[in-house]
Amino acid sequence: MNIHEYQAKELFDQFGVPSPKGKVASTPEEAAAAAQEFAGAKLVIKAQVHAGGRGKGHFKNGFQGGVHLIESPDQAAEFASKMLNETLVTVQTGEEGRLVRKVMVAEAVDITHEYYLSILMDRATSRPVIVASTEGGMSIEDVAHDTPEKIIRHHVHPLLGLQPYELRKLSAELGFHGEQSKEFCRLVAKLYKLFLTCDCSMVEINPLVSTPDGRVLALDAKFGFDDNALYRHPDIVAMRDPEEEDPREVAASEFNLNYIGLDGNIACLVNGAGLAMATMDIIKHYGGEPANFLDVGGGATKEQVTAAFKIILGDPNVKGILINIFGGIMDCNVIAEGVIAAAKETGLPIPLVVRLEGNNVEAGKATLAASGLDITSGDTMADAAKKIVAAVG
Ligand code: GDP
Ligand code: MG
Repeated sequence: MNIHEYQAKELFDQFGVPSPKGKVASTPEEAAAAAQEFAGAKLVIKAQVHAGGRGKGHFKNGFQGGVHLIESPDQAAEFASKMLNETLVTVQTGEEGRLVRKVMVAEAVDITHEYYLSILMDRATSRPVIVASTEGGMSIEDVAHDTPEKIIRHHVHPLLGLQPYELRKLSAELGFHGEQSKEFCRLVAKLYKLFLTCDCSMVEINPLVSTPDGRVLALDAKFGFDDNALYRHPDIVAMRDPEEEDPREVAASEFNLNYIGLDGNIACLVNGAGLAMATMDIIKHYGGEPANFLDVGGGATKEQVTAAFKIILGDPNVKGILINIFGGIMDCNVIAEGVIAAAKETGLPIPLVVRLEGNNVEAGKATLAASGLDITSGDTMADAAKKIVAAVG
C-alpha cells in the first residue's frame, strides 16, 4: 500500500522527521487559503499522486510540471486550477498518466544540496538497507546506472538496530560536517524508527536537502507498506486512497482475492499462489501473456468465483480465461458449480478453458459438460495452456 506525500508528512511529524510545513487542498480556493496560512514564506505547490517524477512531468492539458515555486495565495489558486482535475504524466505513471485530485501547498526552502535517502527491505540479506547518495533530486535508477560508485548502501542488523557510529559513518560518506552532520544523524535515526514501527517495505526521500541555515529536511516522500502487517496499523489503512489504486485490485481485495493486474490478454483463475505462478509460467511457455495473477485461495466460495469472474471480464484486454484448479481441500464439483453460476450470471463472451484435477474431479467435469455452456476442458496444465493460447490467437 502507498500513501500521498501530504500523508507522509503527517507520519514525519509524528516521528519527528523534519520536513517543511504543508497543507493539502482539493480546490483552488483551498489552495489559496493554505497559502494564506504560510503568509510571508516562500511557497511550493505540488500535485498529489502516487507517483514520482512530478517536477519534470507534464499535464495532458499542456501545462508543464507538477511541482512549482510560487509566491502568493493568488498564484496558489492559479496553479491549483491548472493542475486539479487534470492528468499528470511522469516517467513513473506511464502514458495514461494520473488524475490529480489534490495538491499540496508547502513552505518552500532554500536548497544548498539535494541528497537521496531511502530505507528498504533487502531480500538477499534479509535486512533493512539504507541507500543514500549525494546525487539527489534526480532518478536514482539513472544514478545507479551511470555512476554506481555514488550509491552508498548500508545494511542494518535487525536485532542490534542502527548504531550511532553507523550513522556517523554514513553522514561522513555523504560529506556532512559539524552541526549539519548531527542534524542528518538525528533525522536518519528517526526515519529508521518510523520504518520499523510502521512496518514499511520502503521509505524514500528524494530529495533530502541541506539548507543555507544548516538544516537537513525531507522535501519529498514516498512510502510503501507491507500489506501483511497492515492489520496492525488502522491509522495507516485509513490513509488508503482507492482512487490511486488499480480498481481491479480494489474490487479483488473486497472479496479476499489475491489479484494483481498484468498487461497480457489471458486471464487466470487459480487456487493457490504456487499454482497461480506455475499457470502464468506455462501460459508464457506456450507463447501467451497472462492478464493477471489471481489466487482464489484454498476454500473459494461460489461468491468469490463469481466476483473473480467479474473482475476478469471487467478488463478490456482479456481475450480468454484459463481456470486451473487443484482440488485438494476444494471439491472440484463445488468449483465447477461456481464457474457455471458465474458464467451464467456474467455471460461468457470469451473463450474459457477449465482444467480440474484432484478431489471429485470426475463429478466436476461431468457438471461442466452438462452445463451446456461453451467451456473447453483441459486434461493437463500443458493441454489447457495450449488450448487457451490457441483460442486467443
Ligand atoms: P518529484 O519530482 O515528484 O520527485 O517531486 P519533488 O517533491 O522531489 O520535487 C521535485 C524538485 O523540485 C526537487 O528535486 C527540488 O529540486 C524542487 N523543489 C521541491 N520543493 C522545493 C522547495 O521547497 N524549494 C526549492 N528550491 N526547490 C524545491
Ligand atoms: Mg522527488
